Amino acid sequence: MFATPLAVSKYIDNDPYSYHQQRRKVVAVYLLALVAMIVIFGWLLSEQYKQEIIDAESRIIARANVVNEWAEGVFAQSGQALFGLTELIGMQGMPDANNSFMLQRTLDNLTVFVPLVDEIAILDPDGQVLLATQRGNRNGYINIGKTAFFNAFKQNGQRELMTPLYWSESEQQYYLYHGRRLESPTGEFAGVVLASITPRVFANALQQMHVYEGESIALVDSDSKLIARHPAPPEPLPIGMNITSSRASQKRARELARGEFAWSLTAVSPIDGQERLFRIQRVSDYPMLVVVGVNFRQTLAAWRQRAWILTLVMAVIALLGAWGARHYLNRLLLSYQLRQRIEEREQARAEAQVAAAAFETHLGILITDPQGIILRVNATYTRITGYREADLVGKYFRMFSSGLHSDAFYRRLWKRVMDTGHWEGELWSQRKNGEMFPEWLTISAVYSDDKTLTHYVATLNDISERKAAEQEIHQLAFYDPLTGLANRRLFIDRMGNALKELCRRQRCGALILIDIDNFKQINDTLGHYTGDQLLQGLARRMQQMLRDTDTLARLGADEFAVLIEGVDSCPEKTAQLAEKIAYKLLATLNEPIVVGEEHLRVSGSIGITVMENNEHSVDDYLQQVDMALFQAKISGRHRVCFFAPSMQTALLAHVKLESDVRLAQVEQQWQLHYQPQVNHHGTITSVEALLRWQHPERGLVSPGEFIPLLESTGLINDVGEWVLENACYQLARWSQQPLLSQLTISVNISPLQFRDEHFLERVQGVFTRTQAPLDRLKLEVTETLFVEARDDARDKMLALKAQGVRFSLDDFGTGYSSLAYLAHLPLDQLKIDQSFVHQVLDSPANAAIVESTIALAKSLNLEVIAEGVETNAQQTWLWAHGCHAYQGFLFGRSSTAEAIEQRLSRH
Ligand code: C2E
Ligand code: MG
Ligand code: MG
Repeated sequence: MFATPLAVSKYIDNDPYSYHQQRRKVVAVYLLALVAMIVIFGWLLSEQYKQEIIDAESRIIARANVVNEWAEGVFAQSGQALFGLTELIGMQGMPDANNSFMLQRTLDNLTVFVPLVDEIAILDPDGQVLLATQRGNRNGYINIGKTAFFNAFKQNGQRELMTPLYWSESEQQYYLYHGRRLESPTGEFAGVVLASITPRVFANALQQMHVYEGESIALVDSDSKLIARHPAPPEPLPIGMNITSSRASQKRARELARGEFAWSLTAVSPIDGQERLFRIQRVSDYPMLVVVGVNFRQTLAAWRQRAWILTLVMAVIALLGAWGARHYLNRLLLSYQLRQRIEEREQARAEAQVAAAAFETHLGILITDPQGIILRVNATYTRITGYREADLVGKYFRMFSSGLHSDAFYRRLWKRVMDTGHWEGELWSQRKNGEMFPEWLTISAVYSDDKTLTHYVATLNDISERKAAEQEIHQLAFYDPLTGLANRRLFIDRMGNALKELCRRQRCGALILIDIDNFKQINDTLGHYTGDQLLQGLARRMQQMLRDTDTLARLGADEFAVLIEGVDSCPEKTAQLAEKIAYKLLATLNEPIVVGEEHLRVSGSIGITVMENNEHSVDDYLQQVDMALFQAKISGRHRVCFFAPSMQTALLAHVKLESDVRLAQVEQQWQLHYQPQVNHHGTITSVEALLRWQHPERGLVSPGEFIPLLESTGLINDVGEWVLENACYQLARWSQQPLLSQLTISVNISPLQFRDEHFLERVQGVFTRTQAPLDRLKLEVTETLFVEARDDARDKMLALKAQGVRFSLDDFGTGYSSLAYLAHLPLDQLKIDQSFVHQVLDSPANAAIVESTIALAKSLNLEVIAEGVETNAQQTWLWAHGCHAYQGFLFGRSSTAEAIEQRLSRH
């Protein structure tokens, strides 16, 4: 009755004051009211029922009382008649010949005057009829002398007694006998007067009474035999019929036993079968009962009618209540539905707003119908593609393809959309102005609730910027920003791939490592910008020289690498080709290059290793080529070196050397030798202090081998101080000897040592300790000292110069310093590098350089000394070109101080 439509049940369930709760409440109230009503109406009806029963009962009680009194009256009449007769016999004596006539008449008269008495008889003490009414049949009285009835008079002294119905065989009918005891004047039992009453008397009397419908009045004897009944049953009156059921007779027996005189009971009448409420009342002490019954159905007819009406009313009220409750619930439901609809509408509006906002997003959105015909596009789509909505609506989505993808690609794309409802990926599209651009496209099929395809929604993201950024990131990650060449990372990656390929295709590869000689100096002297330009230029040149399949990379500042792949299956042939390429590269590098206003010429050192198999890793091959390059560098630069397994040994030796050199400093394994410097007469004017290492196993080790190590380990400061101190002590000692007092000592100072912040303090300490004549001390510095912090170097030089110390520029010509700036330095001497001196006769170019150097030095008031002079021809050439000081094997190798002293003392 109160079912909820399914559509709202979901919403209603979610409501805190849910419809279901309300409905439960209403139903509960309704049921409660219904129950209350039923209880009240039920109580009312039951009260009325009781009242009806009480009313009916009081009516039948009244009726029973009346009948009872009447019956008592009847018996009183017969009793009266018998009493009068007894009195008469008392006076007249028992009937005999004298008085029997008179008594006979009396008897007859009695039956006339007491009509209910049918007959009267006088019995003797033995129960024999002495006298009876005329119309009575004397023989009709059976001898009752032996009956309990008679004995009650005779033996028990009963004065008066009435029998229940008694069947008279002679009369063939029932009688009630009313007897009275006769006594002799002495009080002895003399007999009984007996009146017989026919039950018809009662029946006739009852017929006179008015009975309501359903009412019945009956008289029964103490054996429940019917005496009379009104209304008479349709059948002839069954007098003597036993009218009680066993249950009723049991009850009656009980009531009688208790001495009850009146009681009520409900039973079905055995006469007409109607259920009645009976009132049973005993007629005094007589064996007769008055039974008044009233039909139960009829008694309760009015009540039942009222009950029906009340039930009807109740049903109507229940129905009305139900209708009202339902009506209320319907209204409640309606209000819920209304609220839901309002909320749904609000939500839909909000969603629409969100959808509208979402539609105008940073993504381009295009919506088509199921056939792919464009329905809508958003502003971003227009902004990205240049097509306005008006250009697009009604057209096929596919017509804007860039043409860069094959038909098969689009077929696959749409097949995927059909199969899965979705596709996303990157593709090229065309803007209205014809420009191609990469986009990230997502196509989604939209289905209705019944799974029908309704739309396609395509979202596109212009990823050209992202692509460019990715490209840039890729470029930054894998390419050198300066030269645009592959960087170390990409190179290593390519090497890894090359190794895999190598194994697969059985072809060797080659790895070439190129280092620009002295690039740092270029960078430092000409500036980083020039250095960068130079690198770019060199990269360009090398790139042009190489094949496309070769990978050229910049691994470090001035370090380039070339990976040559898949050359030949034979390692030797690969090595030959790699060597050819390496020399070509060297030649390319060596060509002069114009950077800004400078014409630069650089050289390079190249290491090569052949990648034969993939037993070695990328790192191994890189290490090999590094060693080869190292070898090329230490072999005097501008050369090509192949990796050889022996290099590995050399490297190990290098590592050992480093630990040895540390030990040497601890154990002071140093020695100082001196090499003479002579004037054009061959007279020793000065000596150069050259450090020697007395190695415990290797003997004397050349400084060329360990000076770089001292520099890289930082030991150069301590060792340098040791050299200076020893040289100064030597100078101080020689100054005491007249023969040697004019000798000058040149001491090599490493740029690193010179740049040390405590350099001046240390030097000052040495000077104080040794007390050497500083005007005969010369410090040899190299050009690299001035490439960085030139002013600092200059200041330090000036500070020392102030104490008389002089300066010589060692190895001049190997650096890149222009002579112009030498004028600004507090130099006293230029030392032409031995590499130039060695070639002075063979190379006109070198000769020209040396010649101009000497001229320039003179113009700057600098002394010039040539080192590495080994031949007289060299000395002659130098003398001819204005260099008048020399150092070299021609004039003596380095030796101990004592040897120098001996040599000088010999002269
Ligand atoms: P350097 O200062 O140019 O010294 C001259 C080098 O040339 C010395 O080599 C010397 O033995 C060598 N030499 C001299 N005359 C000739 C010649 O006619 N022919 C040839 N082929 N060589 C000649 P050494 O002693 O091996 O020293 C090498 C370098 O080690 C020196 O070059 C110098 O730069 C450095 N050095 C030596 N001792 C010291 C030192 O105490 N301190 C510092 N910082 N460096 C030192
Ligand atoms: Mg030197
Ligand atoms: Mg030198």
